[in-house]
Amino acid sequence: STVSVGPTRLLTKLKHDCDTPLPLLQQVADTMSSQMQAGLSSDHGPGLPMIPTFVHTLPTGNEKGLFYALDLGGTNFRVLRVQLGGKDDRVISTEFDQVSIPHDLMFATSEELFDFIALGLAKFVAKEDDKFHFSQGRKREIGFTFSFPVKQTSIDSGILIKWTKGFAVSGTVGRDVVACLNEAMERQGLDMRVSALVNDTVGTLAGAEYWDNDVKVAVILGTGTNACYIEQISSIPKLQGHVSSSGKMIISTEWGAFSNGLPLTVFDREMDAASVNPGHQIFEKTISGMYLGEIVRRVLFNMAEEEGLFGISIPQKLSTPFILGTPDLCAMQQDNSGDLDAVGSLLYDKAGVESNLGERKTVLEVCETIVKRGGSLAGAGIVGILQKMEEDSKGLIFGKRSVVAIDGGLYENYPQYRTYLQDSVKEILGTEKSNNVVIEHSKDGSGIGGALLAASNSMYS
Ligand code: ADP
Repeated sequence: STVSVGPTRLLTKLKHDCDTPLPLLQQVADTMSSQMQAGLSSDHGPGLPMIPTFVHTLPTGNEKGLFYALDLGGTNFRVLRVQLGGKDDRVISTEFDQVSIPHDLMFATSEELFDFIALGLAKFVAKEDDKFHFSQGRKREIGFTFSFPVKQTSIDSGILIKWTKGFAVSGTVGRDVVACLNEAMERQGLDMRVSALVNDTVGTLAGAEYWDNDVKVAVILGTGTNACYIEQISSIPKLQGHVSSSGKMIISTEWGAFSNGLPLTVFDREMDAASVNPGHQIFEKTISGMYLGEIVRRVLFNMAEEEGLFGISIPQKLSTPFILGTPDLCAMQQDNSGDLDAVGSLLYDKAGVESNLGERKTVLEVCETIVKRGGSLAGAGIVGILQKMEEDSKGLIFGKRSVVAIDGGLYENYPQYRTYLQDSVKEILGTEKSNNVVIEHSKDGSGIGGALLAASNSMYS
């Protein structure tokens, strides 16, 4: 007779390896704070990249005129125009278009990628109608929301440090991405001026703060992840001598690069090793949308191989990387039916897996485990940022209303993930402090935010 180990042994081990008890979450939050501190001191030591964005002031609400934004974040790029009416009228009208990036272009040349983007932009600009009022004799100005790590030296230029989120476009790393866009716009005969280069976190912060002045931190949880916040120039040793009229600068933490003290499994390590950027972006690979589905797939495949989950034959399709997406985990977790029919059909459609009820329950437990870990760690990261801000400005964070604006398809669409994130923030901070912390979903703020920052950095004002 065989000793029944069943899927339980691997599931128990998985849950143990992915566990996020309070002391671990506190430790992650504390280390996030100290890694931020280290990154502000020097570009060369340990610590997070903590990239200066050269955004010194957020839009005031007085901005007026027609502005464009181009948002390149991952799976899609969005183009947007907005007519701003100043203090009373605010946003008079907006229009946007979304284009998905063909998978090939993620491995193409820089010219090919930027030509595709400039062409999409040119088509959109050509459709501008009389709802929008453009001052003759001026160039159309655009905010370029570019959500990859960039080394900025001014508000309107920045050199790509590395691609993330599965992009491996050749010839862009080391170049000014505004110059890349300008050259491609020129090839399209499009005469626009990039007035602000920002990433999606900065765009989200600007877009959210435009409506609510208590917004202090912005987080993106989509294909990838990042967070930014408002820092005092005097707390940024590596910018010594830099002058800012506001005394502040938005810092892009690049927290996706964080890696200390995370509860990782062999599946995380194997996925990392097989990625286009092994050893990099470990926090991102643990908490963001591009990866959660793939981690679950690796776990399920291992359970099928070692413990016969799904029966004696191993479903071949389940060995294909990225065959399960994070939206699939989400869809399965919404199945409240007794026989888990939706789980069954999704497993069959996506992975060619035939399953019984017990197996479906195991699959859901695996999803739950990976999603709980992701959401809880994202929450710990947010607490880390708030703690760092509180240290510099005693009482200004936990002593009054502080809003964290979050955007991205993962946060927006995955209710369980959202709940784990919020619970984690509450658990780490305790009731008193967390009462002042408001976590808000800021939908599509980054596009408008990019246009707002183009307006507040306009060459004509
Ligand atoms: P991007 O980050 O690519 O600019 P989004 O913010 O829209 O764009 O995020 C898209 C990501 O969000 C997808 O890659 C996916 O991981 C995640 N996502 C989208 N829809 C869902 C869903 N229904 N459930 C869970 N995750 C989702």
